[in-house]
Amino acid sequence: MDKLIYRFNNQSFKSIKNSKDILGGKGANLAEMVKLGLPVPPGFTISTKVCDYFYKNQKKIPKKLIQLAKKEILVIEKISEKKFGDLKNPLLLSVRSGSRVSMPGMMDTILNLGLNDKTVVALKKRTKNGRFAKDSYRRLIQMFGNVVLGIESHFFEEIIENYKLTKGVLQDTELDESDWDGLIINFKDIIKKQTNKNFPQNVNEQLWGAISAVFLSWNSKRAKIYRKINFIPDNWGTAVNVQAMVFGNMGDNCATGVAFTRNPSTGYKEIFGEYLINAQGEDVVAGTRTPQHLSKKFKHKSNSTGISMEESMPKIFQQLKKIFSQLEKKYRDMQDIEFTVENNKLWMLQTRSGKRTASAAIKIAVDMVDEKLISPKVAILRIDPNILDTLLHPTLDEKAKKEIIATGLPASPGAASGKVTFSAEEAERLKEQMQDSILVRIETSPEDINGMHAANGILTARGGMTSHAAVVARGMGKPCVSGSAEIKIDYENKFFSSGEYQIKEGDLITIDGGAGKVMLGKVPTVKPDISGDFSKIMKWSDKYRKLKVRTNSETPADTKVARDFGAEGIGLCRTEHMFFDDKRIISVREMILSKTLEDRKKALKKLLPFQKNDFVEIFKIMNGLPVTVRLLDPPLHEFLPKTEKDINNIAKELNISDNDIKSRIVELHEQNPMLGHRGCRLGISFPEIYQMQCQAIFEALIECKKKKIKPVIPEIMIPLVSTAAEIQILRNLVQKTAEKIQKEHKIKIKYYVGTMIELPRAALRAKDIAKYADFFSFGTNDLTQTTFGISRDDAGKFLNDYVDNKIFHKDPFVSIDERGVGELIKIATERGRKEKRSLKLGICGEHGGDPSSIEFCEKVKLNYVSCSPYRVPIARLAAAQAYLKKNK
Ligand code: ADP
Ligand code: MG
Ligand code: MG
Repeated sequence: MDKLIYRFNNQSFKSIKNSKDILGGKGANLAEMVKLGLPVPPGFTISTKVCDYFYKNQKKIPKKLIQLAKKEILVIEKISEKKFGDLKNPLLLSVRSGSRVSMPGMMDTILNLGLNDKTVVALKKRTKNGRFAKDSYRRLIQMFGNVVLGIESHFFEEIIENYKLTKGVLQDTELDESDWDGLIINFKDIIKKQTNKNFPQNVNEQLWGAISAVFLSWNSKRAKIYRKINFIPDNWGTAVNVQAMVFGNMGDNCATGVAFTRNPSTGYKEIFGEYLINAQGEDVVAGTRTPQHLSKKFKHKSNSTGISMEESMPKIFQQLKKIFSQLEKKYRDMQDIEFTVENNKLWMLQTRSGKRTASAAIKIAVDMVDEKLISPKVAILRIDPNILDTLLHPTLDEKAKKEIIATGLPASPGAASGKVTFSAEEAERLKEQMQDSILVRIETSPEDINGMHAANGILTARGGMTSHAAVVARGMGKPCVSGSAEIKIDYENKFFSSGEYQIKEGDLITIDGGAGKVMLGKVPTVKPDISGDFSKIMKWSDKYRKLKVRTNSETPADTKVARDFGAEGIGLCRTEHMFFDDKRIISVREMILSKTLEDRKKALKKLLPFQKNDFVEIFKIMNGLPVTVRLLDPPLHEFLPKTEKDINNIAKELNISDNDIKSRIVELHEQNPMLGHRGCRLGISFPEIYQMQCQAIFEALIECKKKKIKPVIPEIMIPLVSTAAEIQILRNLVQKTAEKIQKEHKIKIKYYVGTMIELPRAALRAKDIAKYADFFSFGTNDLTQTTFGISRDDAGKFLNDYVDNKIFHKDPFVSIDERGVGELIKIATERGRKEKRSLKLGICGEHGGDPSSIEFCEKVKLNYVSCSPYRVPIARLAAAQAYLKKNK
């Protein structure tokens, strides 16, 4: 077996290629900090390989590990001049989880291991601080009970809360030694009652129980859910860090805190963080006491009355500041730090790259380029394209009327409106029904993670800027207002009140996570601003990408948005969407329901001017850029009248009976319309439809020419082709129509004809098809459906089971299935290009805006990707990343 244990600062791990894989992020960074000469309590890391062994061997710890750990503990004892389990000067240990990538709050940590009825007395004597010793002991019993023995923490919390009520105090810090003595007895009773066992007095039993519990926490429900949401492989496993304890709870010259080297909300270069005097571990994050700001500046900004660390511990504050810049230089990224102060001495307990909002990510990347910490290439690679999504969506309209019902901390920016819901489950349920929700909780805990994911925004009554809700929301890019003390939540009766307002479950509210405001109803929004740093990142991306980025758009409004976002053409203009307009649908229905060619032509004639105008508008906006127009694709029944009233209207229009219409509807019914009379099959059966559409395109071109609009070269796309003969026939039709119009108007028009590749047969016969095509556009939605034989509209019922059973790693309708669908794309690309070197290749499915699919498109050397307007900037960045990764 490989090496099982690595001492912090152990030189031997230099030989490990990816230290985080073996040591986990926390362990690797602790070792790095020791190497930098920073004050880190001594300790060691148990490799992730042991976690693997643990799960493969009936959850047993390898014997060898116990021997190795013993030796390492001896080293810690020597450095700290304390002894584990000693009755004079006991060493206490923390056992901490740590996976490759940080999973905040998902796994467990146990502090103060090594205390028992005897050592606690020794600790008291040694430190001359009985309150501290007892407080630490009760914390151990509580954490051990919760994490190792599985007793829910509210059992313990309630006892403390009730005790404080009877004593008439508010803060834990107001409890003294004798209070904790009593609570220790109560805590032990809980353990006895819940598990039928005594709290273990043997310190080694404590230690190994804790280590096993950390391994087990890798497979806790919440950790599994977190991994699923974040695509973290289940087989990575966690490392375990065993470390000497340092104490922030020994008195008023002690503290514990968390900090970011820059503001994770805005990206500004300023110290951002919170601390608590005389506290330990997670007290800051848990929201039991309100933490204070680190810097004076933030204290003033938030009108806080507490004392900032800059004031209370100025020397430590300066030392921290120095360490922050040291760490930023080393990691070249914003760091998220945990520290403890024991008797005016600073100890570093953790550093990692901090989670940040989308706008902070951009500002930090651009600033770090300016500071020469990183290059533009690194800046591009550092920003997760998916998070840009939050910046590209509308923000609250400043001019709109707002009725503010509460304020809180601006924990995660962005605006969201939705129905108030008080439970994670309810938020998930609403999401399934495609309804927007705001999850309102007193505070969130890791169990709420799924609901937070499902909700559009999060509002909490308690908790600071580094509370669970705030950190997780920022990571997810979800708007969040935290610590809104004005709101009083009544879970049982499902409402919250704030001043005179009473908001019930299901009521609409809006939150602004950038301003920390809660508003009544749905507040209107405006288009986002993507200038400044954002446009810098875009400019750099454009420099480093090969793939062009087009958009899928058919309305002038969408097209305009896409152009503003930098779209370099339209990759998919779906003509049928133009048919649904109220004024046109009647003519469309007329066309479909007509029995004779003549009637159909009459109806088409009415549609022609509408289509033509649409194209003129779009061509005008695109100003010479390429536009791919797809001819009619969906099965005709989609346009049929459904209500009696509609049927009656059409009957009148066509001068036939309602029953005639109804029987025509029955005639048009298909068992499996997705594979039915649609796509180019319509063009083959009813050439007059495609002919009208082509006529509209060409006449629009002519009109543009007259109006002196920069000419567009349209790319006419024939959908659902599977054979060369189909496109041969339809290309001919396009050509004939063009010739006729050219003759009529005595103007030469330029155009291309191509096809969508969305059927496996088309991909395989790409060589024949390319004879008649100037371009291919991969319609990956249908290509995925037809390759898997899975209907996208029905997949919802079993897709989750497929993901859970690891049959699909990711939903193939979101990210291209490279091995199957991707293989077909590769084949079609190669065979198509072999026939025609100039063949232009693109992709226009949903996948065109998915960063990992874009990476694939770069790999197979497509010419462009096309995506929805709001994803254009995401695709620009992802395309640059794809290119940089390929050419590393
Ligand atoms: P998480 O991954 O959830 O942040 P950690 O392992 O970092 O868990 O532990 C949580 C907190 O426990 C730390 O932020 C720190 O305050 C406290 N802690 C962990 N180890 C020690 C230690 N050796 N001495 C003092 N406090 C510690
Ligand atoms: Mg931590
Ligand atoms: Mg299709």
